[in-house]
Amino acid sequence: MHKVHHLNCGTMRPLATPGGIVCHVLLVETPSGLVLVDSGVGLRDVADPAGRVGPARFYIRPAFSPAEAAVNQVRQLGFDPNDVRHIVLTHFDGDHTGGLADFPWAQVHLTSAENRAALHPSTAVERGRYLASHRDHSPILVEHSPTDHAWRGFAGATELSAIAPGIVLIPLSGHSRGHAAVAVDAGTHWVLHVGDAFFHRHQITRAGRTPLGLAALERMVAHDWRKVQGNHRQLAALWQASDPDLILVNGHDPELLRRAQELGS
Ligand SMILES: [Zn+2]
Repeated sequence: MHKVHHLNCGTMRPLATPGGIVCHVLLVETPSGLVLVDSGVGLRDVADPAGRVGPARFYIRPAFSPAEAAVNQVRQLGFDPNDVRHIVLTHFDGDHTGGLADFPWAQVHLTSAENRAALHPSTAVERGRYLASHRDHSPILVEHSPTDHAWRGFAGATELSAIAPGIVLIPLSGHSRGHAAVAVDAGTHWVLHVGDAFFHRHQITRAGRTPLGLAALERMVAHDWRKVQGNHRQLAALWQASDPDLILVNGHDPELLRRAQELGS
């Protein structure tokens, strides 16, 4: 139903992570305008890494490339950034919110739980992760609470029909308090973007080892590690089922991004 572009909006090189990681952002063409899922590293981060991103830049080590910013890639694809009307966030970590300030007119959708966590952090991890600088442009936030609907076995799903049919916000807490996945109906298949519910494809494909640095980083920043492990199990089962009409991607795995780009949508 919707055309989906898969973008890398922020190459990053965490320690002990050969090959680095990406910030996988979806650009979705809908009849009512463009929609982003997550926003990656933005132009203001590129201009002022210390002021905008703070000490986190030393362990995630972003490339801070202006060409990778979503706003420039939208232009590069021939679209007008003003047509980006909505941004749906998997969560409010800085590597997902940096681009928000490049689209200050857009409505930013997220779970109520995540917005509460970002405004009222209650643990050391939460106090460290959310960047006040990424909301100093006063983004238009639209909060969503879980419903009693399910999407392919994932409970609490909300279809964001005010944006367009076929865009679904699915609570998937663990990495952060109000973390979510986003499913997009691309016509012949669905794209399920699970954000940081897992960091590396081997955690769900079980086909090899996860780079040590990445595994350590995931555990260090997890809001609830047991829930993260549960998410890994649920997503591994989904991967095993290999539904022909489902493309499963996450926030940071470069190989999953490459495969999704190769499929063309
Ligand atoms: Zn992330």
